[in-house]
Amino acid sequence: MSIEVATPEAGRHVMVDLETLGTEPFTPILSIGACRFNMESEMLPFADPENDLFYQAVTLESCLEAGLRPSASTVLWWMQQGKDAQQVFSDPNAVALPQALDAFTDWLDSRPDEMWGNSARFDFGLLSSAYRACGKVVPWDFRRERCYHTMKALPTAGAVRIEREGVHHNALDDAVSQARHLRRIMLHLEKKTPEMAYTIYDREQIVREAFDAAKRYATLDEACPYPFASPAAAEFRAAFSAAQAGIEAQRLAQM
Ligand SMILES: [Mg+2]
Repeated sequence: MSIEVATPEAGRHVMVDLETLGTEPFTPILSIGACRFNMESEMLPFADPENDLFYQAVTLESCLEAGLRPSASTVLWWMQQGKDAQQVFSDPNAVALPQALDAFTDWLDSRPDEMWGNSARFDFGLLSSAYRACGKVVPWDFRRERCYHTMKALPTAGAVRIEREGVHHNALDDAVSQARHLRRIMLHLEKKTPEMAYTIYDREQIVREAFDAAKRYATLDEACPYPFASPAAAEFRAAFSAAQAGIEAQRLAQM
């Protein structure tokens, strides 16, 4: 089945996250979360949260009626998750799968340039199989699918971190968090300079990281392992030394 896809809006990105009862196509979808973002401007707060964010819980019964099948291992996995994440099972705003898909199709009408998910096979594979199970047209062009998992695995991207906000395994919180992280990874990969790292890592984060690094190296007779020669690195080194001195002072006070 194909769809006439309008010309994508350049630079418009959408991050999608699903919570599901399995990891294969034709698995029940518990919720769909998504956010629009771009790589240039700050993501949060969203300029227009009403329109830039999408969240819809789905009734399990309607997924079973559409012929989707849960996997036992994922059901058992959900039983071990936190209560906040498990609220998706009793969300009073949950709707039947066909309505949820229609709502997502309407929302997606922004013609995103790039659609991000956790591997094209997972989020987009499961979501498109749900569209097919309901006899509906998949509302995006498969050539627009992009993989956040791959971006995280690229060389040096592992060093790019963000402070996690929201509930883990809430589809919207996951989507927003992944979009924020992806944007930082993109900036990092494009510039690859400590100066850029300084602009995307705020001062507090530099101090926090320095403190963590100092704690790790406090018991080792080693120099600061970050020999950059940039203003950002100088700031990091100063914060590192201050943190190290503080830890040493604490140690002496406890003797
Ligand atoms: Mg998730």
